[in-house]
Amino acid sequence: MNAALPLTAPAETRRLLPEALLRSFDTPGPRYTSYPTADRFSDDFGPVNVIRALLQRVRHTREHAQEPLSVYVHIPFCESVCYYCACNKVITKHHDRAAEYLDALESEIGLVASVLGAGQPVSQLHFGGGSPTFLSDAELARVFDTLQRAFRITADAEVSIEVDPRTVTPARLAHLRQLGFNRISFGVQDFDAQVQKAVHRVQPLESVRVLMQAARELGFASINADLIYGLPRQTPESFATTVQQIGELKPDRIALYAYAHLPQRFKPQRRIDAAELPPASQRVAMLGGAIAGFLDRGYCYVGMDHFALEDDALAIAKREGRLHRNFQGYSTQPDCDLIGLGVSAIGRIGGSFYQNAKALPEYYETLRRGQLPVVRGLLSSPDDLVRRDVIMALMCQGRVEFEAIERAHPICMREYFADEIERLAPLAQAGLVELEPGAVQVTEAGWYLVRAVAMTFDRHLKRNPAPERFSRIV
Ligand code: SF4
Repeated sequence: MNAALPLTAPAETRRLLPEALLRSFDTPGPRYTSYPTADRFSDDFGPVNVIRALLQRVRHTREHAQEPLSVYVHIPFCESVCYYCACNKVITKHHDRAAEYLDALESEIGLVASVLGAGQPVSQLHFGGGSPTFLSDAELARVFDTLQRAFRITADAEVSIEVDPRTVTPARLAHLRQLGFNRISFGVQDFDAQVQKAVHRVQPLESVRVLMQAARELGFASINADLIYGLPRQTPESFATTVQQIGELKPDRIALYAYAHLPQRFKPQRRIDAAELPPASQRVAMLGGAIAGFLDRGYCYVGMDHFALEDDALAIAKREGRLHRNFQGYSTQPDCDLIGLGVSAIGRIGGSFYQNAKALPEYYETLRRGQLPVVRGLLSSPDDLVRRDVIMALMCQGRVEFEAIERAHPICMREYFADEIERLAPLAQAGLVELEPGAVQVTEAGWYLVRAVAMTFDRHLKRNPAPERFSRIV
């Protein structure tokens, strides 16, 4: 797979990904930031199960080398709503609401540290939301201080934050840098004024340019920009302009997401005029044009919506076959236990996944009772663990070696996955995979549609497809 990337020429991209092929995968599918996916979590899994998993980790780290943790902190507040939003957020202009939230967050951090023991090393720390920069500089410093007292953030840790450009200034970015953040992700989506108006998120190109420049001068090791295609009033031509403008700003990484219009599920989306949404043929043209545009501007395709400059750590990890995948997407860091903190946050300890209460009243109330605010989760079965290894090998390396899986699990791949291997035949015919005697190899074109390949091995999806829950593959 590695030898096949990066692609270089737009014409080549169009040859590999003809519109007819892209169109045939215009269906929903999981993003596989975990397997099983979060929608499979059950209400039967609660705080007691998480404490059990944490204690198991404590025992394990006593007997083996101490593995670092990853920590995710969810800050749910936003000042105004973006109509495309599908995140768990609370819209408010009342900044004083943050104080109660930070009290609860401190209680949660205290509870976790009391089980794990203080000073556990953390090699990845991510602030997401909502808008983490809804918090004032002093409030962000308070959260950081609490985390530093509970955990030991290692000197080389990746410390990242999602930033809404409308909520920060260069001076605020300097404060983030001073706190210890070394990676930053800007939510851009689209620079076209008409599109920005239609999604209720107006942020001129010039303000993003100033902030990205400031972030660069402040020494952030990696700057990311998020874009979305398929938004109202977008056309292939208008989106090509955004692609060109973002290419000129040259962030180290670009994440390009497909908009999924699910107004029954996400209330803000009801304010989008469905008649203004681009049809499937235009969405496909936008995706093809963006892929070609980024490759043409020196980015390589890392995988599943992610592009990076050739010298970025993620691009290097891709070339060297060292990519990993976690709830934040692709990562250079080996898969490690993840502590999710804050309302709706998701975590994973060993084979146990968990999620916190999604609504603030329940989150606060549980913590007031001195309990972890966990409301659902899942303990992976041996079958889940096999499939997780297969799916992550496909998603990260674009190749699954049967022998490697058989070494880690007591199965014979050809027998265990006889049905799945058979169901890969149409994908092989479409040129997305090659079926070797002892491996499944994702082809160069298949790498752009890799989750369609991974879905073949998803047992939960086979039993209960419920496809509309997921974002679209194209
Ligand atoms: S898209 Fe981001 S900034 Fe906009 S409402 Fe949703 S969480 Fe808030």
